[in-house]
Formats: sequence, structure tokens, C-alpha cells
Amino acid sequence: MKIKNFFGHLKTITKHKWLVFKLSIKAGIPLRGLLHDLSKYSPTEFFESVKYYQGGKRSPIPVARENKGYSEAWLHHKGRNKHHLEYWNDADAKEPPIIPFKYCEEMICDKLAAGMVYLGKNWTKESEIEYWNQKEKNKILANENVKKFITEVFEDVAKNGVNVTINKKNLKRIYDKYC
Ligand SMILES: [Zn+2]
Repeated sequence: MKIKNFFGHLKTITKHKWLVFKLSIKAGIPLRGLLHDLSKYSPTEFFESVKYYQGGKRSPIPVARENKGYSEAWLHHKGRNKHHLEYWNDADAKEPPIIPFKYCEEMICDKLAAGMVYLGKNWTKESEIEYWNQKEKNKILANENVKKFITEVFEDVAKNGVNVTINKKNLKRIYDKYC
């Protein structure tokens, strides 16, 4: 284990958590922000991600997948964190459920913070909708109405910026439209 990667990964996840916390205050869910991603500090998630650390420029999880065929950190993470669409996928259910509002809010904060951390100074208010449309929307199994909520929130961010879009009233207005 490289000591540089140990501290690099620690810095990345803590920076991410801090950004999520700041956004979660805007969204009116400070407690969700505080508890966000705590399982990343568990040995199962932490050490795999140190091993496949990508310099803080992208997630180690796809790299672990490429190397091992699966990511133990991800399986551990998505099973415990309700802010992930994948948490709610029950292969035997007829369709993915509507996710409760507070976890949808946390998910939005998480995605924004992840983009900001990985892209750094290259992040723009359009980054999130571009990533969502190109990499996630049509690939991830999730309730179609939840997907519509995410799409409209990120379109709103692209148009009006984070400060105007991310507040409880506006997020609830968009959520109630679809969910
Ligand atoms: Zn997470």
C-alpha cells in the first residue's frame, strides 16, 4: 500500500464529504450531509479505494471493477447508502420504487460534489447535466419519475446555477411534479 495513496484518498473523500455537507445545508438536510458516505471510512471500502486510487481525478471503483471483475467497496457502499439509485434496485421487484425526497436531495448534493471534486477548476454549471445525460440516465436502472426529477434539477443547475437551484423549496417543487 502506498502511503501517498492512503492520504490522497483520505483527502479526496473528506473533501467530497465537506462539499456535500455545504450543499446539504442549502438543501435543508444538514443531518443527511453530516452522515453522508460514512461507510467510505470502513476498511472494506477504504482500502480497496486506496489500492485503485486515481490521483483524486476519478473514482477508483470502475478501476477495481476492471481489475477484479467487481468492486467490493461499491457492493458494500451501495448496500448501505440510500442516496444511491442502486440501493433501491431489487432485482425481484416489478419496477424500481420512488425514492423518498430526503434521499433524492442527498443524491443531488452527492452528484454535484462528486463532479466538483473530480473536475476541480474545470467544473461548470453544465457539467452535471452533461454527465447525467451521457453517462448515467439511459444506463442506470431507476424509477423513470426519479430520473425525470434528476434531469430537471440538473437542467435547472445548468441554467441558473447551484445557488438558485439548490434549496428545499425548489427541489421539492420539482420532486412533486414527478414523484
Ligand atoms: Zn455515496
